[in-house]
Amino acid sequence: MTVAEELASIVGSSHVHTDAPTIAENSTDATRRCHPADVVVFPADAAEVCRIVRLADRDRIPIVSRGGGVGYAGGAVPIRGGIVIGMKRMNRILEIDPVDLVAVVEPGVITGDLHDAAAARGLFYPPDPASLRKSTIGGNIAHNAGGPRAFKYGVTRQFLLGLDVVLPNGCLISTGGRVVKNASGYDLTGLMCGSEGTLGVITRAILRLLPAPPASRTLMALFGSARDCAQSACALVGAGIVPSKLEFVDRASVAALRRYVADEGLATPVELPPTVRALLLVEVDGVRDGLDADLDRVRSAIEPGALGLVESGHGEALWELRRHLSPAVARIRPDKINEDIVVPRRRVPDYLEAMERLERECGLPIVCFGHVGDGNIHVNLMLDASDAAQAASAAGAKTRIFELAVEMGGTISGEHGIGIMKSDFLHLAHAPAAIEAMKAVKGALDPKGIMNPGKIFP
Ligand SMILES: Cc1cc2nc3c(=O)[nH]c(=O)nc-3n(C[C@H](O)[C@H](O)[C@H](O)COP(=O)(O)OP(=O)(O)OC[C@H]3O[C@@H](n4cnc5c(N)ncnc54)[C@H](O)[C@@H]3O)c2cc1C
Repeated sequence: MTVAEELASIVGSSHVHTDAPTIAENSTDATRRCHPADVVVFPADAAEVCRIVRLADRDRIPIVSRGGGVGYAGGAVPIRGGIVIGMKRMNRILEIDPVDLVAVVEPGVITGDLHDAAAARGLFYPPDPASLRKSTIGGNIAHNAGGPRAFKYGVTRQFLLGLDVVLPNGCLISTGGRVVKNASGYDLTGLMCGSEGTLGVITRAILRLLPAPPASRTLMALFGSARDCAQSACALVGAGIVPSKLEFVDRASVAALRRYVADEGLATPVELPPTVRALLLVEVDGVRDGLDADLDRVRSAIEPGALGLVESGHGEALWELRRHLSPAVARIRPDKINEDIVVPRRRVPDYLEAMERLERECGLPIVCFGHVGDGNIHVNLMLDASDAAQAASAAGAKTRIFELAVEMGGTISGEHGIGIMKSDFLHLAHAPAAIEAMKAVKGALDPKGIMNPGKIFP
């Protein structure tokens, strides 16, 4: 029997694909890198995943778990071929419990669908990557995804209580549990979170929920420079204010968004100023009666550095617009090297200035926006990769983007992960002994190296 036939005996022949279009569709991600899988399989449950992994373990076949395929690290690209396990059939929200404040979900649940289901019960799942209408909970866990709300509420890790994971030997284990405190042994849940599908296949997750904040208000502040904008964000935090979202947008991003809105015929809830050099978007949430006072405190903290403040009466529409920033920026040049460095918050003004210098030095647009509250800036290096001079310049600039982040006390990825796109730079973020420790964990759990091979480590 061929591998495809064996897989068909596990999941049914209609859920095993070797045709070129399905292979192509499931062998790439938001990086647009593509390497064909040999076969794509869509299991229905954990028992089927166990049998698939045991087969792969027996024959030493690479396995790549796949969620929404909107990762920015090439994590879901099967660079060594093998079996792609797509999670689109394992997409059930199994339970939402308003007393335990947990959601129990399969890994293929779309992040935004969980938001909607929680909201329908008056509850709230904060992690909100801009890709939330396409990304899955499994992919979010594998990358420890964040989003604008991470500033106040935290990233995926802070909402992860337990997992079911199929290990590379085909054993199904449960980690953590339906409890908010857990001091029993190693934190395997934490280990799996952010491991980019290299240690196992997640088949179920127990997630923490919160009561939904009753109301929110959004303010947009305009600045004459990126430094002023980032310094105002620092002033806000230094004044003891904790907005639910605190986002930076530079001038080129605003221009790209204006063009995108016009091209796509989208509605704008607020006029995007054409000439301003930087924007700060601030959301406060909580009980309705307290929000006036909260916004007053925000205003007095950022007004001294700002050119102007505009309150948007259509906050959610403005945040929806914010989610288009990434595709909007992508239209500036044919190719985008998209990094998501992090620095300590108070170094963001310096980092943004360093990016302005680097832009002048390398001669390529460097477009920045992102989660300034977390010091997590999306740095987009725009180029035409078919132009050899631009490609060479971009390669040097990419290295500097990472080096500067690390020199300023930060690291090379805040939420997109390492995958294949940053593996050559892992040594900047971690000492050799730390990388060896990570490899020892990988070797212990996956001695045959079948689970998402070629990722994270160069
Ligand atoms: C427009 C845009 C905006 C974005 N904005 C954000 C943002 O604000 N914040 C943010 O954090 N990210 C953002 N991202 C990046 C991306 O959406 C996230 O990394 C997301 O978590 C990927 O989810 P996915 O389901 O698409 O995962 P995939 O791309 O399918 O896979 C990503 C990784 O997860 C692994 N994986 C997937 N499912 C499983 C599973 N069941 N078990 C084990 N491993 C698994 C894969 O093997 C791979 O290594 C954005 C991407 C785009 C395109």
